[in-house]
Amino acid sequence: MSELYMLNPAAGCPEPQAARLVSAAYDTIRRRYAEGRHQIGAAIIAADGKVFVGIHLEAMVGRYSVCAEAAALAAARLHSDQQLLAVAAVRYPKPSETAASARIVSPCGGCRELLLDHAPTMQVVIPQGAQGVFAPLQNMLPMKYVGTKWAQLPTTTP
Ligand SMILES: [Zn+2]
Repeated sequence: MSELYMLNPAAGCPEPQAARLVSAAYDTIRRRYAEGRHQIGAAIIAADGKVFVGIHLEAMVGRYSVCAEAAALAAARLHSDQQLLAVAAVRYPKPSETAASARIVSPCGGCRELLLDHAPTMQVVIPQGAQGVFAPLQNMLPMKYVGTKWAQLPTTTP
C-alpha cells in the first residue's frame, strides 16, 4: 500500500461520487499545500459531471482568509452555468503532524451560508467515523439567513 493511498481519505467513501470529490479535493491540496498559506482543498461537482476545485487562502489578517469551498464555488461559477450538486473538502496535515492523515472536513458556518445561497440543493461529504458520506447541506444550516437582496433563494442554479 502506497503512502498516497494511506493518506487519501477517499478510501473511506463508500459512495463513488463522494470518493471522486474527496480525491479531487485531496489531490488539489496535496499538490498545492503550503504551511500557513494553503491547508484545505475543496471540490464541487456540477450536474454535467465536471469537477471544480479550490484551495484555502490564508491571510495575514485572519478574517480575510478565504475558505477552499468558496474558492471552488468561484471556480465553478466562473466556468459553468450547471447546477452544482455536491462539495467535499480535505484538510492536509501539517509537517509537524507526523502521525496525521489528510481528513475530510465539514464546511464552516460561513461556507454553509454561501454555498446554500448558490446551490440550495447541494450535498456535502461529511466525516462520519472513518467514512465520508453525503449529507444535505440544508440540514447542516437550518433557518439560514435570508436577507432582502434577492427576491427569493434560487431553487436551482444559476
Ligand atoms: Zn468556510
